[in-house]
Amino acid sequence: MASRCSICEIDPDSGFCHGVMRAVNKAEEFLSGGGRLYSLGAMVHNTEEIERLASKGLATIDIEGMKGLVTGSTVLIRAHGEPPATYSLARSLDITIIDCTCPVVLKLQRDIAAAFKRVSLSGGSVVIFGKRDHAEVNGLVGQTGGKAVVIENLSEIDQLDFSHHIELFSQTTRDPGEYEALKTACLERTADITIHDTICVQVRNRHKKLADFAAGHDVILFVSGRDSSNGKVLFELCLKHNPRSYWVDAPDSVQDVWLVGAASVGITGATSTPRWQLEAVAAIASDPSRSVI
Ligand code: SF4
Repeated sequence: MASRCSICEIDPDSGFCHGVMRAVNKAEEFLSGGGRLYSLGAMVHNTEEIERLASKGLATIDIEGMKGLVTGSTVLIRAHGEPPATYSLARSLDITIIDCTCPVVLKLQRDIAAAFKRVSLSGGSVVIFGKRDHAEVNGLVGQTGGKAVVIENLSEIDQLDFSHHIELFSQTTRDPGEYEALKTACLERTADITIHDTICVQVRNRHKKLADFAAGHDVILFVSGRDSSNGKVLFELCLKHNPRSYWVDAPDSVQDVWLVGAASVGITGATSTPRWQLEAVAAIASDPSRSVI
């Protein structure tokens, strides 16, 4: 009988990004005082981590839920950020905000607001390369009063108005290669464009290193909640460099058949995957009592 694998390595660059780590730490700090805390939207796209925080007193609500809170309640704004309308609503309801918007996202929001002021004078447009209705994108579009144009992929490029000036931004977690392709295609159509490099540095560096990590192992176990858009992008990257890449949405979903004949298994995940979950998957994948054949 072969043991599950000879070598299991957790990707040293995986685990929460700084923005998510900061938000989780702030939530835990507040909850340690025994108070009730409401998160506007899931703090991380990871069911087990949400359940862990819920057991400490964190409740996840949506904007309608926020309208039903009693005066003086405390609401956490997650790393993705929110549009200005959310802050106005909180003020009108006398709700206390713990603002965990990632500083990188906050800067992007401010840059988009400033760009919108500029293009409004010239009849131009702010374009955001991002996923429609993603929380971060909603927060970004909110800086323009809903006027920014969201483009999800290169095939939508002809929806853009190239007859006036464009200021182009990207959601922080988009695929750097896809953004490069979009930038090139825009420059083929106009010179009247300002391109902003707004993919998070942590995400950009991660892409480069993850490709090598995926190629360097027989099998990749990619740990992430199914709702994570960053997870989808990074998993595709793993698949591109290692066809034996498998999505693991909970540690007990690792299947023996995936590991047959694998001498080395790499364990990695999205920016919303906590380190403890990667360790749990590593323990299962390297458990010598569980054989693969
Ligand atoms: S991926 Fe980057 S921008 Fe997004 S929350 Fe994490 S650190 Fe912030």
